Amino acid sequence: MIKAKYIDIFQNLETPFYFYDLELLRHTLQTVKEESSKYGYVVHYAIKANASDAILDTIAEYGMGADCVSGNEVARAIEKGINKEKVAFAGVGKTDKEIKTALENEIFSFNCESIPEIEVINEIAGKMGKVAPIAIRINPDVDPQTHEYITTGLKDNKFGINHWDFDEVGRVLKSLPNIRLTGIHFHVGSQITDISVFEQLSLKVNKIHEWFEQNGFHLEHINVGGGLGINYDSPKEEPVSDFKAYFKAFNDNLELKEGQQLHFELGRSLVAQCGHLISKVLYVKQGLETKFLILDAGMTELIRPALYKANHDITNLTSAASPVKYDVVGPICESSDTFGKGILLPESKRGDLIAMHSAGAYGESMASTYNMRDLVKSYSSDQLDQM
Ligand SMILES: *Cc1c(COP(=O)(O)O)cnc(C)c1O
Repeated sequence: MIKAKYIDIFQNLETPFYFYDLELLRHTLQTVKEESSKYGYVVHYAIKANASDAILDTIAEYGMGADCVSGNEVARAIEKGINKEKVAFAGVGKTDKEIKTALENEIFSFNCESIPEIEVINEIAGKMGKVAPIAIRINPDVDPQTHEYITTGLKDNKFGINHWDFDEVGRVLKSLPNIRLTGIHFHVGSQITDISVFEQLSLKVNKIHEWFEQNGFHLEHINVGGGLGINYDSPKEEPVSDFKAYFKAFNDNLELKEGQQLHFELGRSLVAQCGHLISKVLYVKQGLETKFLILDAGMTELIRPALYKANHDITNLTSAASPVKYDVVGPICESSDTFGKGILLPESKRGDLIAMHSAGAYGESMASTYNMRDLVKSYSSDQLDQM
């Protein structure tokens, strides 16, 4: 999965670090471009998944838009050459400063999550002599069949506006002069591997869309968010998610009116498989019953196992000895700093290189300096090719 020439270079680099395989990223982005353009769909990259230079530069090369959840992300997307007319700004708690940044940059759309937020955007836009294009984030009450912490579209959730508030929202929208409703927005969760969830979402969207039409709101776009999952168990067998089936599910089920555009905000499915966290074995420690493989990478570099009980495929890049079972752990002073229990790996020793795969999304972007550790570094395959 990782080419031998890169593993040779890894031996001389200080660990831990992220390695991004830009060849796989380009192949993934090319697939997305081909499958989405069959239907004229617009794809935004959800920057929070990974905002490192190599990743954003590559995303920008493919002409994608951006989905941002902070003012800094908005600024960074534009600085990286992403067209501001393809920048959407979401989030339940936008600050006044962030709203101003986005208004100054004349972005594509504010994805609004509550009535008080719409009123504040109206007020700030008014003071700046602008009209803010907004989409309402709606809670469609679709169960994404995924981990509860990454479920966002059920009715008892901090995200979005619920259907029982529509009448009130309609009244508010009609009374505010400095906002313009351009679309409706949905995002039901993350790591969704069951395509029927997107079929259900499409059918809900049709009904909700109808309400807006009947109440005199003509929508220019519908944004169905992101959430397409990846294969964490067998990344080698499935390095690219099934984008063909994904976009087809919407094309077959979601009804667009003449001239309306369908937008997507994909994060994980674009960047997860191209990223690997590379670490070294510090110590092999014999416990009472288990053998611990203690790495120099921990939850400060990759928090997903500690935060979501997530599983990453783990391999030893430098040993081909017969397999032994290990509990693979990090050096941080927390019991949850564990990458996997009872993992079969070739017998490993101090200094071996260990890779955690499928770590390109919500890995480096969630890194911290807890325990006063250095913030994790990253290298792209393009960078290593020049070494
Ligand atoms: C996080 C997020 C996304 C991206 O989700 P993925 O599961 O990474 O595809 C899209 N839209 C919004 C509003 C988000 O918060």
